[in-house]
Order: sequence, then structure tokens, then C-alpha cells
Amino acid sequence: MIVKVVNKKWKITVRTDKIHNARFGETHGIAMLDDRKIHIRRSSMNSETILHELIHAYQHELSFHELQLDDDQVEEWFAELFGKYGRTMIKDADRLLTYYRERKK
Ligand SMILES: [Zn+2]
Repeated sequence: MIVKVVNKKWKITVRTDKIHNARFGETHGIAMLDDRKIHIRRSSMNSETILHELIHAYQHELSFHELQLDDDQVEEWFAELFGKYGRTMIKDADRLLTYYRERKK
């Protein structure tokens, strides 16, 4: 499934625990920043994991790591991130959860 992160397309893939483990070890999920892909383990498919990985995607698209912010600016950055994109992130996370719940039936 595709999610837009600041107008860029990110591909979300959910795999069985066995397949996910073989590729990524014990992680719940992982964001491959350069490929714009997020891989999530099926048993960790919940809003906490999705939102965690989406935050990494937003950090990437908004060049968080290149900004070299001080502590106060980091605080502001995250407050602004959530103020601006929080609603979209939660909507996308809910959409993903519904989609994969339906597909598993
Ligand atoms: Zn992380």
C-alpha cells in the first residue's frame, strides 16, 4: 500500500513474522529511507509501529538530519511536525490498519 509523505510516495509492506525476521531481525518495523519503503512485521502491525516508522519517513522528507538543530529547535521541530502533519499521519495509520485487517480475513 502507498502512503504519501510530504507529497512523496512511500510503499508499505507487511510480511509474516518469519519472512520479516529473516530479512530484518527482531525489529517491529523498518524504514528504508533511500528506497522510500517501510517494512512492518505482521504481528507488530499496530498504530504505534506505523506511526513510529512514518515519523522516520517524515524526518527523511523534511531533511531533519541535515538541519543540525540544537535541543530547543528539536523540541520545536517535533511540535511543528505533529501540528502540521499529525492528523494526516493518524489518518494514514488508520487506513493502513483497516486495509491489512480486511486483507487478512
Ligand atoms: Zn525507529
